[in-house]
Amino acid sequence: MSMRNTFNDFKNFTDKLTDENFLMPVLFIGHGSPMNGIEDNEFSRRWTTLAQEIPTPKAVLVISAHWFTKGTRITAMDFPKTIHDFGGFPDALFQVQYPAPGNPTLAKESASGIKTTKVDLDHEWGLDHGTWSIVKHMYPNANIPVLQLSIDYSKNADFHYQLGKELFHLRSKGVLIIGSGNMVHNLRMIDWGKLHEPSFGYDWTLKMNHTFKELIMNHNHQPLIHYHQLGREASLAIPTPEHYLPLLYSLALQEKNDSISFFNDKPIGGSLTMTSVKIG
Ligand code: ZN
Repeated sequence: MSMRNTFNDFKNFTDKLTDENFLMPVLFIGHGSPMNGIEDNEFSRRWTTLAQEIPTPKAVLVISAHWFTKGTRITAMDFPKTIHDFGGFPDALFQVQYPAPGNPTLAKESASGIKTTKVDLDHEWGLDHGTWSIVKHMYPNANIPVLQLSIDYSKNADFHYQLGKELFHLRSKGVLIIGSGNMVHNLRMIDWGKLHEPSFGYDWTLKMNHTFKELIMNHNHQPLIHYHQLGREASLAIPTPEHYLPLLYSLALQEKNDSISFFNDKPIGGSLTMTSVKIG
């Protein structure tokens, strides 16, 4: 690559960031097993390459399935701790530290931009594995501030979708918003013996994966918000809402000109999907 090309590439990139119409993409990422945090596998490798394909964000805000609270909270500390919120995994997973800084100013700004509900500034939580297992593959140098927004378990799906919309302004400020969960997530029905069999999914898992993707592709969000009406397969796919609701935050941030693409579009263990979405 010549010097001129390098300069032009750099200029195009900086022009993009200063363009007031510029919007950061939004992601929904299926995080799956905490082991993805330390494994070099097809899923974690895609997280790494994806980060190289999109503009480097000024900060990352994650809505993780693993921070389910009464009321809505946002992490507002200077240095969020790495939380090992799981049991029965190898010691290597408990040794992981992801020392990305926080951004208390951005936390305050984000909280005050939300009118649907009161958002409390949190100094207790940190980064749970729904966040660090992904972000450490995307930004291994831990030099980009990372914040988390909690999911209020007392509220319905429509509340979460509307709250997601109120984060829209952050896209134009270079903040990468990631919903982290799994669209199909039924741990009770996992076939642990087939966990490493490639792309093994039950019929209802494959059907729901298809339905979810079709609705997302068609920008048809109402059935996704009212997922209880999607039939028996949906109740198997979403036995509890915490891994599904992060998807609604990501979809709420879509605007009409955004392109949609899927990645890591695979079932594992029968009753879980890693299917992920890039918006914009
Ligand atoms: Zn999880």
